[in-house]
Amino acid sequence: MELKGKTLKDTVVFEGVGIHTGEICKIKVHPSDGGEILFCKKGIEIPAFHPFVVNTYLGTDLGAEGEVIKTVEHLMAAFYLLGINSAVVEVERGNEVPILDGGAKTFVENFLEVGLSESGKDWRVLKIGERFRIQPNGNFVEVEPFEGELLIYEGIFPYVGRRRVVYDGKMTDALVGARTFCRLEDVELLRKNGFGLGGYLVNTLVLNKNLDYLVYGDEPAYHKLLDLIGDLALLGAKIEGKIYTFKGNHTLNHQLREYLLKTYGVEKGKIKLQEVKVF
Ligand code: ZN
Repeated sequence: MELKGKTLKDTVVFEGVGIHTGEICKIKVHPSDGGEILFCKKGIEIPAFHPFVVNTYLGTDLGAEGEVIKTVEHLMAAFYLLGINSAVVEVERGNEVPILDGGAKTFVENFLEVGLSESGKDWRVLKIGERFRIQPNGNFVEVEPFEGELLIYEGIFPYVGRRRVVYDGKMTDALVGARTFCRLEDVELLRKNGFGLGGYLVNTLVLNKNLDYLVYGDEPAYHKLLDLIGDLALLGAKIEGKIYTFKGNHTLNHQLREYLLKTYGVEKGKIKLQEVKVF
């Protein structure tokens, strides 16, 4: 496991619609040597860390002092997959991270294009010490000790059925390119309730009975794995262990982070946990 933390060589700007708000959003991602990912909105600092999560319904949102930045998970997954542990994300317009391609592809490509350098801060490691299962209602997550990093997502998806995908520390095109998805039947209801207002066919895979357009059947499962990685990135540490999640979502990922931080901390004693909201 590579523990040397990285940052960007230069600032990268992303602009585009937010998947839920439908607003045009603009963020600037700056190099940093701070050893953390920090969002900055209207002068307020919002650390990309579990205690600052304010919502996990249909996405993961961070907030502090009344300011919120929505849908951070795909950007966080890009940071994690590239080994970036230091950056400042300046939120210049809107309240959401732009959805762009619906996955992490645009973030990863642009970060690699500008180049990465060492941040001077090593990754912290969260090492899973014992087997544990969290089973709220119909879905569950199991953690167990493992040498290295092994994340497994399994789910049952409308039209494409049961799918299981794995991340073992190697970034793949299928993982970073997997788009946000929803069921065709849910589009109207989501929009009526004010969600998915920025969802278009370029950034969202709409699951329906015509699967001809589906490039690969595992795409929804890979997207959920990408979400899991982005959500775990809010621990601010590399995971050493095995995590298997069945039908997981952002809320289950939140419960998982909660358990991991309370049980293992991150280099125990170095990070003081603030009071954590439970959803
Ligand atoms: Zn997602």
